[in-house]
Amino acid sequence: MLLLAFVIECRNDRKRRHRKMQSTTGNPMYALRDVPGKGKGLVAIEKISKGTRILSEEPVVTVPCNEQASEQLQISICQQVDALSKHQRRAFLSMHNIHAYGNAAEQYLGIIRTNALPIETNESEGRGIFFEACRINHACDNNAQKNWNTKIKRHTVQALRDIYKGEEITIYYLGVHKNREARNKALQAKFGFICLCCLCSLPLEQSQESDRRLDEIYRLDGLIGRGGVEGIVSSPLRSLGYVDQQVRLYNKQAPDDAGLPRAFLDAAQIAIANGDLARGRIFAERAVSGWSTALGGDSIEVIEHGTLARDPSKHMLYGISMKWRTTVDEAPRGLEPSDFEDWLWKREKPKRPGQLANLRSHMAFPGFMDLPGKNTVDLDFYESSDMVTYRPQRHWCFLGEIVDFGMLLRLEMTIKDVDGKEIPLYFYTDGRGSELAPAQVQKGYTVAILYAQRHAFVYGDPGIRHEDPQMIKIFPISLHELLVLNDQVQKFSVELDGIRLCHGCGRKAASLKRCSKCSSFWYCDRACQGAGWNEKGHKANCKLLKDPDLQGLFVLKWDEFDNHIRFPLHAAEDSEV
Ligand SMILES: [Zn+2]
Ligand SMILES: [Zn+2]
Ligand SMILES: [Zn+2]
Repeated sequence: MLLLAFVIECRNDRKRRHRKMQSTTGNPMYALRDVPGKGKGLVAIEKISKGTRILSEEPVVTVPCNEQASEQLQISICQQVDALSKHQRRAFLSMHNIHAYGNAAEQYLGIIRTNALPIETNESEGRGIFFEACRINHACDNNAQKNWNTKIKRHTVQALRDIYKGEEITIYYLGVHKNREARNKALQAKFGFICLCCLCSLPLEQSQESDRRLDEIYRLDGLIGRGGVEGIVSSPLRSLGYVDQQVRLYNKQAPDDAGLPRAFLDAAQIAIANGDLARGRIFAERAVSGWSTALGGDSIEVIEHGTLARDPSKHMLYGISMKWRTTVDEAPRGLEPSDFEDWLWKREKPKRPGQLANLRSHMAFPGFMDLPGKNTVDLDFYESSDMVTYRPQRHWCFLGEIVDFGMLLRLEMTIKDVDGKEIPLYFYTDGRGSELAPAQVQKGYTVAILYAQRHAFVYGDPGIRHEDPQMIKIFPISLHELLVLNDQVQKFSVELDGIRLCHGCGRKAASLKRCSKCSSFWYCDRACQGAGWNEKGHKANCKLLKDPDLQGLFVLKWDEFDNHIRFPLHAAEDSEV
């Protein structure tokens, strides 16, 4: 439904823009005017709405991209310039040239080098001279987007935001938006000028803030691309987190930036590769909508990824993991926009004071694939002040259910994590696992391992190499039951503005009495306590909840690292809960 609406909107948009182009034939939306400090430039002579195609033109002279000043090239350029009409040649020769020259061929080449625009999207194929587009000046906070449209073989310029009458139309000459110093270095070297746009003229403090954002966007780009397909399957939550961060930075820096659709496509690919069609489609729609504004509905980006937004399951990465499996229509309805974004990006809500840690949190209780690797520094988990020594920046605990176990040279278990993945766990403690009482080692029980890491064993599948006896604890409950108990604890063990919930009848009240055995659940009276005990499973759970190690998991501040914690945990004894 959404998509259909979008397609129709695109089509209407196209019609509208088309009409506009026609109505202004001979009377375009811009004029060549003097621009203070820049010589001439294109200035809007009427309001140009966001997404409007400002111009679309074919190149008059083209050169291959890595043009050496070969004889062949000089001949080709001279032939092209000679073939121009008198009027065109005059226009060509009047263009800016920052290069010295001794003859006509060198002069033409200098003009081309100063003014040409890329005519392939990857900038490796060639460059061309466009009379109109080449007259558009650069700004780092550009209001229009240039693009070589490979579908229609024309250079297009589209309005990235509403451009008002009298405002200069600007494009961004460089590829990536980098910090001020890097931008101006490149502009000086390639085009021979220093930029004086609003972004480059910001007061120092604001300029530094903008530079930090741009550097961070660039750094995140590297992190997103680093792991390739393997990365988005092995740690999708982290990868999606990088894109989320990037999009938020774009929204602060330049919400119209043409880099945004690329970020949404990254997010779509992460979702789709993990079987999440609902998010995949929404991200793809956002990418297509951004490209439709910046590049137009006839661009290869909109055409190709429009198909993806219609049916994300057609993507080549679909199904290599089914960890996040959703159907295409599974997006929640009726949420507040900010709650919808939290859902979309799989964000975890920050903990309110008095709230307990949630065993379903992927940050504190990551699945195996989200654990840090043993021999790599994972900055999601570790931090360093000197880049030599690293320490955890927070606590984390791996949870897995014992599927099988055996003892040859050492205790060895097969455990299933929160994502359903089965991995081996080998005991490399001094006792090789004999330190555990046999009654604790049972199929269906749940192992908790603090600061677990992914270990690549020489023989066999990746798993966990367990070395410190104080980092492990086994709870006599299945992982599923533990998570169900966690949900009850989240509901019945917390106090909100002095109000608690009775575990027996669900009534909210300020004056409830707590279970004297586990101190975790609260009741109106004996009758409610009886109901909780007999009908709501507290008889079995009370015993588990009495365990300070389990209570410790709930009350520990997982995101505040001071020192390594170890079992037995004493957190529960010091806390109010
Ligand atoms: Zn600038
Ligand atoms: Zn009650
Ligand atoms: Zn109890």
